[in-house]
Amino acid sequence: MEQTSDPGSTQPEPDSSRTDRTEKTWWQRYIGFPLIWKFGIALVLGVIAGLIVGPPIATIEPLGDLFLRLLQMLVIPLVLVTLISGAASAAPSSLGRVGGKVFGFYLLTSVVAISLGLGLGLLIGPGTGLDMPSTGEDPEKAPPLIETFLNIFPENIFQALAEGNVLAVIFVAVIIGFAVGTMAYSEDARLRELAEPVKKLADAGCEVMFKIVRGVLEYGPIGVFALIAVVVGETGTDSLLPMLNLTGTVYLGIALMIVAYSLLLLAFKVNIARFFGAAKDPMLTAYVTRSSSGTLPVTMRAAEKLGIREGTYGFSLPLGATINMDGTALYVGASTLFVANVSGVDLSFVQLLEAVAVGVLASIGTAGVPGAGLIMLSLVISQAGLPFAAVALVAGVDALLDMARTMCNVTGDLVVTRIVAQTEGQVEEPSRVRKRSRSRR
Ligand code: ASP
Repeated sequence: MEQTSDPGSTQPEPDSSRTDRTEKTWWQRYIGFPLIWKFGIALVLGVIAGLIVGPPIATIEPLGDLFLRLLQMLVIPLVLVTLISGAASAAPSSLGRVGGKVFGFYLLTSVVAISLGLGLGLLIGPGTGLDMPSTGEDPEKAPPLIETFLNIFPENIFQALAEGNVLAVIFVAVIIGFAVGTMAYSEDARLRELAEPVKKLADAGCEVMFKIVRGVLEYGPIGVFALIAVVVGETGTDSLLPMLNLTGTVYLGIALMIVAYSLLLLAFKVNIARFFGAAKDPMLTAYVTRSSSGTLPVTMRAAEKLGIREGTYGFSLPLGATINMDGTALYVGASTLFVANVSGVDLSFVQLLEAVAVGVLASIGTAGVPGAGLIMLSLVISQAGLPFAAVALVAGVDALLDMARTMCNVTGDLVVTRIVAQTEGQVEEPSRVRKRSRSRR
């Protein structure tokens, strides 16, 4: 992938080209240029193109969709192989403890996030002075939570894989990994022998998938440019201006969440410069793709760079991409107050507490795909007895809010994974990580 010379050519090169061989080709230069810069430049150019061209920029949407598809294509096989490999090598007794910690931290950060969203909403008062839109479509209804729960247990494993049902795939991969792990630790030599090739296959699968992720990321800048240009071109400044208050509140809240994550990491003695050095790629990918699930391959790659062992991140990241949505919880909090303000309703303290509870549950039920949070917002709005019409105003700028909240969702998953790995002694030394990543190039 990284070579441009014709692999079939066996001719010795003429003398005159000897210097060319030491000079890098444009492709090698491109590959060597840090990803964050390539993405950053694409992002800025995308904003400029979107502002200049406006809505017609939507014609380049397929370039962005291609990036999303390439990432999405990797999610299910990656979740499957990393989880099987991780669960098979972890001691069966530790799985429950790690799972408990991951759930506990996910819940804690979500409660903090929605409280922050509501708190900032009360302080800033987004939406005061805005008129309620006279018309507005009723947003889609969210599926009942019990249905989401039952869907974790697939009737048919292959259907779950084919439909990309991440929670069901997590369940299937954990039980397969658990079974292989039990065989590997068994007294029976025949079972131990049979477990070995399955583990090796899963380990090899992880390496193959990461190689492909690296290749897909090289296409990333084109995808980033198109995705951002389309959002900016379609949102435009007209719909943004009256909504600046809500947009500002959500962005400020997310900045404060990042500060809260940093404090949490520091409390567990994690080097935050190193953490964010690795986290920046998934953060930026999440910002432009607006999909936690789609970003998962990049988040897993960052976890590898941080030296977190597969046994921990293979479980907690796919789970987080599906159930841990701190940014969405914060957005739901701030937007609920926005809707209340636009509709001229004063929420009581009890109603606010209800919004926290329903908002956290809603964020757990939110899928890691673009725009899912808007559906969850309507669930909370209807629970709070507020009119739907104002949700239409939020929908106008939802893409911009979705970018920030998805970035926060992904960061939260990685923070919790890093902390749990720390408490479990599941983090490799930086020197070993560097050696491994060099061998992966
Ligand atoms: N797009 C978000 C995510 O993938 C979900 C949401 O819409 O809030 O994490």
